Amino acid sequence: MAVSAFDLFSIGIGPSSSHTVGPMRAALMFVEGLRAAGRLDEVARVRAELFGSLGATGHGHGSDKAVLLGLEGERPEDVDTDTVPDRVAAIRAAGRLRLLGAHDIAFTEDDDLVMHRRKSLPLHPNGMTFAAWTASGDELAHRTYYSVGGGFVLDENSTDGPVISADTTPVPYPFRTAADLLRHCEDDGKTIAEVMLANELVWRTQAEVRSGLLGIWQVMQDCVTRGCEREGVLPGGLKVPRRAHALHAKLAAEDGAGDPLYVMDWVSLYALAVNEENASGGRVVTAPTNGAAGIIPAVLHYYTRFLSVATDDGVVDFLLTAAAIGVVLKETGSISGAEVGCQGEVGSACAMAAAGLTAVLGGTVAQVENAAEIGLEHHLGLTCDPVGGLVQIPCIERNAVGSTKAINASRMALRGDGTHVVHLDKVIKTMRETGADMHTKYKETARGGLALNVIEC
Ligand code: SF4
Repeated sequence: MAVSAFDLFSIGIGPSSSHTVGPMRAALMFVEGLRAAGRLDEVARVRAELFGSLGATGHGHGSDKAVLLGLEGERPEDVDTDTVPDRVAAIRAAGRLRLLGAHDIAFTEDDDLVMHRRKSLPLHPNGMTFAAWTASGDELAHRTYYSVGGGFVLDENSTDGPVISADTTPVPYPFRTAADLLRHCEDDGKTIAEVMLANELVWRTQAEVRSGLLGIWQVMQDCVTRGCEREGVLPGGLKVPRRAHALHAKLAAEDGAGDPLYVMDWVSLYALAVNEENASGGRVVTAPTNGAAGIIPAVLHYYTRFLSVATDDGVVDFLLTAAAIGVVLKETGSISGAEVGCQGEVGSACAMAAAGLTAVLGGTVAQVENAAEIGLEHHLGLTCDPVGGLVQIPCIERNAVGSTKAINASRMALRGDGTHVVHLDKVIKTMRETGADMHTKYKETARGGLALNVIEC
């Protein structure tokens, strides 16, 4: 399967790519399937069931709201995030849904949107089923989907078998592993960004790739701006205060003279701003997940605001390089906290950002791979234990720490010559195996770690 940079960097809605974006897409796929089969007008009842991690932490992650909006035809990339609370409240108050905005049915949330806290489906921790019936009780459709991380949805009933995407477009440089990727670079004398760009050109022109990636970058910048403007407490009941606004005011009032790490405070700020926006259900770029959405924007802000070499071309190369590493992580590891813990989310984002930064600071292909390897290696074993099932504690700070780690990983790689003992592929394999050994309570179920030891008030 060919994965594009635009699959890994998709514009979505917080707080979670796997628990919000994925369920919204799955619900939409289900009702679009009914419409394609010409059965939408016959539907009198729809029932959605969420299993595993989705069932356990879905309320905190907004999965319930995402399903309602997806059934009404909304897409994560263009749903108006400011109107979501009112839309959902209106559905609940009326007890009615407008499927794809066109077909009105009664909807009883207690019966028709079921969160199974202790039941799972076989293929992945984030399973969902959707069913629809006529007024006389005849079943019109029944489908099973899995939200496998980063907003990707796997359709168990696909005619091609359970696949994430049917995109089998041949690309000039097919790769699954870092070794494949480096071999292409070596054989054709290309950078990682050039290899990734050559693949992207099977879907879009070079101008479209450039403008699309700069558009993604603009959404990241808008997200940071909004995060720095908004004050108050994050939704969900933990009463976590937003910190980015006050930190921004403080940093803007200082000149940083005499503090060599002043810039790092800005990097933390950028990440906090994105992840506070994400936690409040705002517009974010999934990079490669929502939980870890702050790291790539924070490191890109560091590049563009503090390094004199920064250019728009550099931003494009950064994102292409990060995406290539993301493809390898997704194809051979995992970017899903529910599957392998936070090492797959924040660890992956750190590796991608470290690689992107190293590339645009003139690193060789070997140094880029080394930076990604350092970024991931030092997140191995990291569990996912969101307090209250909300993407707030530890997620928001973890992105700030992951961002500074990415810069450190890049600097370490750039100070070396690219030779190192542990190859990125080995670290990804280790992440996958560590994730398989990890107890379920540490994989986005909010039943272990901090989630257990921090009392919700
Ligand atoms: S702990 Fe990590 S993996 Fe879990 S929800 Fe938070 S950011 Fe995502």
